[in-house]
Amino acid sequence: MLKLKTLIIYSLLFAWIPLQGQSELVDMADVSTEFDYEIRYATPNNFIGEILYDCAKCLLQPDVADALAKANQYFCERGYKIKLYDCYRPLDVQKKMWSLFPRPTYVANPYGKGSIHNKGAAVDISLVTLDGCFVDMGTDYDYFGREAHIDYYDFSEKILSNRRLLMEGMRAHGFKTIRSEWWHYSFQKNRSYPTLNDPLPCD
Ligand SMILES: [Zn+2]
Repeated sequence: MLKLKTLIIYSLLFAWIPLQGQSELVDMADVSTEFDYEIRYATPNNFIGEILYDCAKCLLQPDVADALAKANQYFCERGYKIKLYDCYRPLDVQKKMWSLFPRPTYVANPYGKGSIHNKGAAVDISLVTLDGCFVDMGTDYDYFGREAHIDYYDFSEKILSNRRLLMEGMRAHGFKTIRSEWWHYSFQKNRSYPTLNDPLPCD
């Protein structure tokens, strides 16, 4: 009887492990067509200076995608929409970033906890107007310096109010900030998601 019990426990355990590696991410473009895209790691215009993604896609955990669509609706009602810079990032890409730029303030160590981007539960974003026009947030995306910190206030009132709007809208929909990057938002309930390394589904 004990052996049978052990067998059942082991079968359940081994059935569960592959599930953890399975990606159940959704393509944001299938959830909503109302986002603006500038997936920088699919271009050489990023802090590494190389193309790191095979295609410009935003994949997220379903809960995160739903929350982000609601946040976008909040911004739309105020004359803006979200521009997506980065969403899910395969662990291998994290390793490449780390090998070229091993600074833990800016790149999460893939051999430690990794990045919440590796779980499909974080987004790097800005706002644009509903016509797709630029909204000034004070620095470019992936600007690694004090001016990108969310508690840097030496900007015009317009820039500060743009940042405030982004922060208020995202926090109201279940996202939290990190201090050093105004563009980064992690979904609050991110701990239960596994770290993933599935490649982006490029045709
Ligand atoms: Zn980020």
